[in-house]
Amino acid sequence: MSGAIYLDGFATTPLAPEAKEAMVRAWSVTGNAASPHSSGARASAIIAEARTDVAALIGASASEIVFTSGATEANNLALLGVARALRSSGSQRRRLIVSAIEHKSVLEPAHALAKEGLELTIAPVDRCGRLDLEALPELLGEDTLLVSIMAVNNETGVVQPLTEAAALAHKAGALFHTDAAQAGGKVPLDVLTVEIDYLSLSAHKCYGPMGVGALYVAATAPAPAPLHFGGGQQGGLRPGTEPVALLAGFAAAARVAREQLEADGQHGRRLAAGLLAELRNMGLNAAPITGDHAVVPGSLAFLLEGVDAEDLCLKLSRDVQLSTGSACTSGQLRISHVFEAMGFSESQARQVMRVLCHRYLNDDDISAAARYIAAAVDQRSALAAGGVRQ
Ligand code: PMP
Repeated sequence: MSGAIYLDGFATTPLAPEAKEAMVRAWSVTGNAASPHSSGARASAIIAEARTDVAALIGASASEIVFTSGATEANNLALLGVARALRSSGSQRRRLIVSAIEHKSVLEPAHALAKEGLELTIAPVDRCGRLDLEALPELLGEDTLLVSIMAVNNETGVVQPLTEAAALAHKAGALFHTDAAQAGGKVPLDVLTVEIDYLSLSAHKCYGPMGVGALYVAATAPAPAPLHFGGGQQGGLRPGTEPVALLAGFAAAARVAREQLEADGQHGRRLAAGLLAELRNMGLNAAPITGDHAVVPGSLAFLLEGVDAEDLCLKLSRDVQLSTGSACTSGQLRISHVFEAMGFSESQARQVMRVLCHRYLNDDDISAAARYIAAAVDQRSALAAGGVRQ
């Protein structure tokens, strides 16, 4: 195992020991939920319990949870499935609205639907990465079918104004979906208070296993049309043999996250604030890019003036693991669409570093990470001053 300090919780979080134990237990017994015997009944019971635990995380009923392979599939099912279901019901609504900072698993199905003839509108965000609520009402109209706004952005950590956005969407008679992959188990979510019709979750962003997630479909909302056809599991909405052990792990992670939501939040906020303070104490001009906006606990996205974040990340990777504001697409370093939407120039985006401090880090890890980062920046400045380029 790598001994590096892992600060890349946006990409994935470590597996909770409780989730690992639950999976080992579930994996040690054979059983398909569809089988008419006691092993099948046991698998069925694990799935039913998982549905209850995941539903409880967002204030939903167990019957409103559809398990998927992750948030990517949940987002595809929400967008493609809802658009197709409404089309076949004869709805005249033809417009889909998504924010400019959505994950590709929302943007790509949205573009696929535009190719199928739906109108696509991209809702803007402000300079600090929050949905522009003043612009949204003008985009909404009687033709709006579905609005999809993520709960927490995976590059900045900014918490999006879901309550307001959902209310505006509903006022226009549209349905509301949120990709809550980065919010589930980290910020309080209540689908009834916020009046959400569809919500996507991913287990591996809240200390559960990779390869499993869920789509919440409100009992009051139209069911999406299925994207897959098969043995009729999950009411035919998402057929396929349920991955019992992964669901046991997801459920355990959801239980722990719900119990520790408050404590995890305080811990994450303290670590992120500590990291910023330590970097500054070491003389680094670390400037957070999210302004006054609320961010998911543990998150810190900051700009280090004059420092190429990608270079620094590579240099640090054996000791500290974090992310940058650019991504390698087809071998080319491009600034992410999120920073582009926030109005960052290419050179600014290339100086952005972002971290999400997870539950299992402590103050010593954060101090050590700050020292490593400061030392790597120092070394780079020394190299630059000496005219040596790597
Ligand atoms: N949405 C967001 C906001 C994400 O951060 C991610 C994962 N990077 C996904 C969706 C996709 O989730 P999964 O890995 O479960 O498919």
